[in-house]
Amino acid sequence: MAKLKEEGVKVGLAVIIVGDDPASRVYVNNKKKACEEIGIYSEEYALPSEATEQEVIDIINTLNERDDISGILVQLPLPKHINETNIINAISYKKDVDAFHPVNVGKIMTGDFDFLPCTPAGVMELIKESGVSVEGKECVVIGRSNIVGKPQAMLLLHQNGTVTICHSKTKNLKEVTKRADILVAAVGRPKFVTADMVKEGAVVIDVGINRTEEGKLVGDVDFENVKDTAYAITPVPGGVGPMTIAMLMKNTVKAARLLANK
Ligand code: NAD
Repeated sequence: MAKLKEEGVKVGLAVIIVGDDPASRVYVNNKKKACEEIGIYSEEYALPSEATEQEVIDIINTLNERDDISGILVQLPLPKHINETNIINAISYKKDVDAFHPVNVGKIMTGDFDFLPCTPAGVMELIKESGVSVEGKECVVIGRSNIVGKPQAMLLLHQNGTVTICHSKTKNLKEVTKRADILVAAVGRPKFVTADMVKEGAVVIDVGINRTEEGKLVGDVDFENVKDTAYAITPVPGGVGPMTIAMLMKNTVKAARLLANK
């Protein structure tokens, strides 16, 4: 960061949050804290849940023009009366540090990308850290959302994995997941992945963040039972979540460099 400052590169992240969803509030606070820790300037726009789509777009338009803001993030989900696609499309793709804009999604498909979506990129880092190469491996992703499942599958494919995407209509799920050398769970259901669904020695990455009735954070994987079957497994909390934030910081710095042609 000091080097960037010396070079006159301005690194700034603007985060827009609409409404008072407690989980979104926690995520936004964690993102702001990470910015403070590494010296990225950050700004928050906290709008009430009644805010209109146009109000959000007006803020985005201003931020798109500012040269001290390199990254713009709108915390999802948005209240139902605001169209998520319109909001994502309003963000300049050059400042789209979540990599949700169709230009960035297209670039990810072709492999010629500037930014990767934070959660799938964090998962790839974790797989790399486990020392396991993706090439030629059976990779199974459970979940096909635009923000996790689909881009995750694409990133595994870019690294030459043989990729299967499972979803709510998949038949015989267990038979498919049992084949996986690398299993990524992004379902949003506590303890969805049980030990009998996991191949001995698999790398298991748990993207899920679920809150139990007692208020405890748990993933999509039954960690206690799967950990003995897996070669490597990520915990919740403390696995993919922090990596997502680290990748957001990386994207914000990268956006600043690209905007400054450095
Ligand atoms: P989503 O609800 O958009 O998608 C869930 C997916 O699970 C869907 O594609 C659906 O087809 C699939 N699914 C549902 N039931 C299924 C079943 N019975 N069998 C197979 N597939 C099934 O959710 P999302 O936004 O992709 O998020 C998934 C989870 O990851 C959530 O818990 C979310 O909170 C978490 N998440 C974590 C991070 C992070 O930083 N760790 C980031 C984003 C999302």
